[in-house]
Amino acid sequence: MKYLGIDARRPKIAVFDFTGCQGCELQLANKEETLEAFLNCVDVTCFREISSASGEGFTIAIVDGAISREDEVRRIRRIRDQAQVLVALGSCACFGGVNRLKNSFDLDRANREVYGDQPKPTLPVRAINEVVAVDMEIPGCPVSKAEVERIVQHLVWELPYRFPAYPVCLECKQHGTVCVFEMGELCLGPITRAGCDAPCPDAGQGCWGCRGPAQDPNFEEFLAAAVGKGHREEAIAERLKLFGGFRGISCVRR
Ligand code: SF4
Ligand code: SF4
Ligand code: SF4
Repeated sequence: MKYLGIDARRPKIAVFDFTGCQGCELQLANKEETLEAFLNCVDVTCFREISSASGEGFTIAIVDGAISREDEVRRIRRIRDQAQVLVALGSCACFGGVNRLKNSFDLDRANREVYGDQPKPTLPVRAINEVVAVDMEIPGCPVSKAEVERIVQHLVWELPYRFPAYPVCLECKQHGTVCVFEMGELCLGPITRAGCDAPCPDAGQGCWGCRGPAQDPNFEEFLAAAVGKGHREEAIAERLKLFGGFRGISCVRR
């Protein structure tokens, strides 16, 4: 079989979901023009959204979602034991994602308020790499299907895939998009890892940083520029917090 013109060896792939919306799995399934080629390239042994296969035997585990319950901790450890390669798919898996906002709350109190006398088992949200070793992280909320396809090609070729080190601004400029930051919109593009092809600025909206930080982002300069444009530090901090990718970056100017 050929996948995008290359000889594929059909590795056994299983896709598992944890805490998240499963939108990243949907990204793998929803691009019809390449789905058949993708399925010819890999032997899918488990993929709940598109297959009734049960997950028996796999070498590559693709994991979508974060860890937020004790049973998920046990399950991800079993998957890790079995997989030769474990891939974290999407910002929930890579950073905890939007689920991580939950960690700002008193979980016992929130559980009582929401579920009354029938509290649900829950843990503070963790990224996959905070529980088990991860071989590859593909960020994005959701992931870019085009980028996942490029990565699959590299896996089949046994070539390392290099994620873009540069920020979203570069892709935005390649498109000739009018800079929304210059127009007064808050945009994390200058400090966010590219690879998504800058859909948010292209649509006239600022980047929310769903892919986490670019390599060596000049955060101080970005913060000074954003504050200089009239954005409040609280608003910047809120945006940085949304997907969990900028953890540890302080928004207080020195
Ligand atoms: S990263 Fe976004 S799209 Fe993917 S599972 Fe999490 S919330 Fe859904
Ligand atoms: S719109 Fe955002 S991503 Fe695009 S060039 Fe301006 S700051 Fe960078
Ligand atoms: S522009 Fe920013 S928020 Fe939009 S997809 Fe890219 S990284 Fe995510």
